[in-house]
Amino acid sequence: MEKYVKVQKIGEGSFGKAILVKAKENSRQYVIKEINICKMSNKEREESRREVAVLANMKHPNIVLYRESFEENGSLYIVMDYCEGGDLFRRINAQKGILFSEDQIMDWFVQICLALKHVHDRKILHRDIKSQNIFLTKDGTIQLGDFGIARVLNR
Ligand code: ADP
Ligand code: MG
Repeated sequence: MEKYVKVQKIGEGSFGKAILVKAKENSRQYVIKEINICKMSNKEREESRREVAVLANMKHPNIVLYRESFEENGSLYIVMDYCEGGDLFRRINAQKGILFSEDQIMDWFVQICLALKHVHDRKILHRDIKSQNIFLTKDGTIQLGDFGIARVLNR
């Protein structure tokens, strides 16, 4: 963690926390997912490490970009790009019932499909597709994230 400065907590789940950080090296913002693995069973710990391996293998414009991961003081840290537009769940709520245009919906839908195709081509199932796990970048591009319960198929 010494390479990063904490800015603020942006999410909290059963796994632990999502923290917005700034890298000392280049002053750029990233998100670090902090997963407390010391209280986990061996099986759970292996599952968390698998999330890292799954994410590290993805490289697609519509998937949240993985940067690095490390283990420190009983926690697993996953560093990824910060999606400044937040998640789609919040974006939908911010509309307060005002409908999106059909063009907007189609544009997002196609990007989500492209991300899923990339995932499925690698014989991986995301298993948690929902608006909270779909992010928007600064320029409005869709990125699929949270591979926390993804499964890798044998065939
Ligand atoms: P979990 O659902 O297991 O708690 P997530 O990876 O979905 O973990 O992160 C929880 C929340 O933190 C997200 O719904 C989102 O609001 C925020 N978040 C996580 N990763 C990012 C990111 N890369 N950019 C912006 N916000 C993020
Ligand atoms: Mg999530």
